[in-house]
Amino acid sequence: MISLKNKNEIEEMRYASQVVVGVLQGLKEESLPGVSTWDLNMIAEDLTSKRGAKPAFKGYRNFPASICCAINNEVVHGIPSKKRILQEGDILSIDFGVYLNGFYGDSAITLPVGKVSSEAQSLLEVTRNSLYMGIEKAMPFNSLYEISHAIQNYVEEAGFSIVRSFVGHGIGRRLHEDPQVPNFVPTNGNRSKGIRLKPGMVLAIEPMVNIGNPDIKILNDGWTAITQDGNLSAHFEHTVAITENGSIILTEWENYEE
Ligand code: MG
Ligand code: MG
Repeated sequence: MISLKNKNEIEEMRYASQVVVGVLQGLKEESLPGVSTWDLNMIAEDLTSKRGAKPAFKGYRNFPASICCAINNEVVHGIPSKKRILQEGDILSIDFGVYLNGFYGDSAITLPVGKVSSEAQSLLEVTRNSLYMGIEKAMPFNSLYEISHAIQNYVEEAGFSIVRSFVGHGIGRRLHEDPQVPNFVPTNGNRSKGIRLKPGMVLAIEPMVNIGNPDIKILNDGWTAITQDGNLSAHFEHTVAITENGSIILTEWENYEE
């Protein structure tokens, strides 16, 4: 069942989402060579509690940390560790959510650590752009799969591939709500077959893009998803509210620079 949010609820979700933004901005500054992903996790916890919110992922299905970190060939859901030290040239995806006043916000970015290869840079740009291509279609009365199609089409035209094993989701009083938001059109490419988008829907749209093959596997820790072929992967996510006048990106940054 899809829960629709009224204006006040969307406003509450904006507060939660802006805590997420503040924390990700702090983590972006700290994501330097020599820093461990555990250090970043502790910084995230500190910044979150200073803002009066709770990290959303810690304890979710027993996930042991507050941020998900995925480096290079890792796709999503990597567990922060003191042993994972960022190196010059890595790409680091950080996925983070909070709970505040009854609502969740959820967002992800992939950052270059120092100077990265031009191929990695291009992957980051294409993945981030694809998210915005999808968000442009998050309009009332569009089929949900217009979002999926816009993302898939842009990514595949750029020569990269869309991960199928994970999808975006509705979000609100729960971290993961209906509907699922795939980054590809599941109905034999027929994008008109998705549910109709309505004002009051809030979606976490989150393309995961691989340089090589779309397939993934899960490591023995039970969480970390990596690319099967060992190639790089990137992930960007925004929490987006659909209103009568179009969409509002609740996790938008005022100034984003790569
Ligand atoms: Mg997320
Ligand atoms: Mg999400």
